[in-house]
Formats: sequence, C-alpha cells, structure tokens
Amino acid sequence: MLNILKNRFEQGCRTSPYPKTPVQLPPRYRGRPEINPNAPVDLARRCAAACPQDAIDAENKTIDMGRCVFCGTCQRISDGQFVTFTQDFALSVSEKKHLITRGTLPDLARHARQHFKKLFGRSLQLRQVSAAGCNACEADLNVLATPFFDLARFGINFVASPRHADGIVVTGPVSRNMKTALFQTYEATPEPRVVIAVGSCALSGGPFRGSPEITEGLDKLLPVDLYIPGCPPHPMTNLHALLTFFK
Ligand code: SF4
Ligand code: SF4
Repeated sequence: MLNILKNRFEQGCRTSPYPKTPVQLPPRYRGRPEINPNAPVDLARRCAAACPQDAIDAENKTIDMGRCVFCGTCQRISDGQFVTFTQDFALSVSEKKHLITRGTLPDLARHARQHFKKLFGRSLQLRQVSAAGCNACEADLNVLATPFFDLARFGINFVASPRHADGIVVTGPVSRNMKTALFQTYEATPEPRVVIAVGSCALSGGPFRGSPEITEGLDKLLPVDLYIPGCPPHPMTNLHALLTFFK
C-alpha cells in the first residue's frame, strides 16, 4: 500500500490541463487548413488534380474538410503557397455546409444547439457505432477514456448500451452490412438524442468514396448534429468538439 501511495506521489497528476490551459500540438500535426486567396488559379488547379479526395475546389479556392484526409499533398506541392495546415485542432462544425472552407470556421459554441447544452451539459452518455471504420477513428475516441484526457471528469462517458445513451457517435463509411445495426442502435437510443459523425468516412465516405458498398455521408441516413472532420480526428479535436458543443 505504501508503495502504491509513493508511486502515486511520484507520478503526480498526468491529466491534461486542457481546457483550462491551452495546449500546443506537435509541429507535424495538420489541423485547420488555410487557403491563400491570392494564389494563382493554375496552382490551385494543380493541387485539386493531385488531391486524392477531390476535396479542393480550385475555382472557388475552398477545401471540403468533410472529404479531406489531411494527407498534406496540397501543402507539399504548392510549397505552402496555396494551402497551409495550421496547428489549430478546433475543426468541428454543426452544419455540413461549413465544412467547405477557406480557413475560417464559425464559432461552434455559438452555433451549438442550446437545447442540447441545457439537456446534456452536466451529463452526456454516448454509444459508439463503428460502421465499417478502419479502427483509427475508434482508437482515437477510445483514448479519451485514458487518464490523460479523462473524458469522464466532464461528465461525458461512452456506454455499452444505446438504451443508456443520450446519443450515438458514428465512425466509418456505413457499409451496406452495417446499416441495419446502425438504424437499430439509433432507434434504441431514447429521445431526445444526438448524432455525432466522426471522421472523413462518416462525413463523406472518406477514402471509400465512390464505392457502391458504402454511404457517402451519415447525414444521408440520419440527422447529424455535430460533424468532426479528420482521418482520424485527433483526440483533442474530439474533446474540443464535445466540450464546445455540449458544455
Ligand atoms: S490534405 Fe486534404 S485537400 Fe490536401 S490533398 Fe490531402 S486530402 Fe486533398
Ligand atoms: S476517417 Fe480515416 S481513420 Fe477514420 S475510419 Fe475512415 S479511414 Fe479510418
């Protein structure tokens, strides 16, 4: 027992001070993209042609963050002259149209639906549905339960049964085989319920876009309240989204 206490004392508190203290992610992290509106159209077209996700609109000079997998190709081939990725991990939006951006996003706190804050601000229980995801989105949601992120300190937990949940968090491109399970989980979640789409796959089909086996966007099946882009979204992106939208 004394050894355990000694160990605890030596380890100290390992939980992230976020959101009380801002955190800085490593320089290699690619967060919110910023477009240079003065970049030549030819350069924008070259980036659009190289983008594996067809996420760049060269004529309007926008990026669709719902499709983007943050591979960095556009930044690399434009040498930062057209697109640069900032270290800002606050990427989430409550309306899908806001995923198409030149770099500025609406304030999620202001756009959050106030009735959800009122209902779930103190306690939010979520059921995760992996609808054919590759497991990276799922893993980066899973780490929110570790002592470093300690999601439970905010009254937010992942639960085993949709009947105990206030909403569902969906990852993956929703394959044909997962549709029934997804609908059954949604139906088993009591109202009022929230639907959160996490990752490029759930937002747009991600790298599987074009396949007849998947759904190109969860919003085609269910009313989505919160969109969290990334492939996978960084745990800080998930944490920021949940705290800003519900707290
Ligand atoms: S970072 Fe996004 S927009 Fe740029 S090339 Fe990759 S997928 Fe396309
Ligand atoms: S968005 Fe990317 S990380 Fe998430 S499930 Fe799809 S392929 Fe995997």
